[in-house]
Amino acid sequence: MQRQPLPKQLDARKLCVSAAEISAIVSVSELPRFASGLASDVGEVLADIQLYRDEQGFYRIDGKASAAVNVSCERCLQPMPIEVVAEFALAIVWTEEQAKALPKSLDPVILGEELLELDELLQDELIVSTPFVNYHDKSDCKTAAPVDYPAPEGAGSEEKGDSPFSVLGSLKPRD
Ligand SMILES: [Zn+2]
Repeated sequence: MQRQPLPKQLDARKLCVSAAEISAIVSVSELPRFASGLASDVGEVLADIQLYRDEQGFYRIDGKASAAVNVSCERCLQPMPIEVVAEFALAIVWTEEQAKALPKSLDPVILGEELLELDELLQDELIVSTPFVNYHDKSDCKTAAPVDYPAPEGAGSEEKGDSPFSVLGSLKPRD
């Protein structure tokens, strides 16, 4: 399916009744809350979303969004590329009470008569799926901090009671 620009607002319940699929692409720069947690707003989000009524009658919004973005490495503070993948299984409800009554497998979207702000929903899902702290692999990291070489053998172990001769002995060339 051809990807369309992300629709910002949806009559979500109506689309669930008619069963709709959305295959969208949106640039990260159009998702400012998501972008604010990243190293840059460069990148695109691919979103595949299904709206339908399930066998239990729930109004469902299921989908997956993936974004190739840059976050900051916590060690060297340089950008590093990661893929953020958000997968969600949501049910539209009217009230907080209905939200609490949902099966554990579903997360609520509390929605009244207003239109669903799909870009806000997508940002919520992407933000919770973005890892808080990120580190380059050590070999890729631009850090100036000392590398953790293993300590030389015997370093730091001071044996008490050594006679001066044992030091001399260790200096004697072996032949
Ligand atoms: Zn780094």
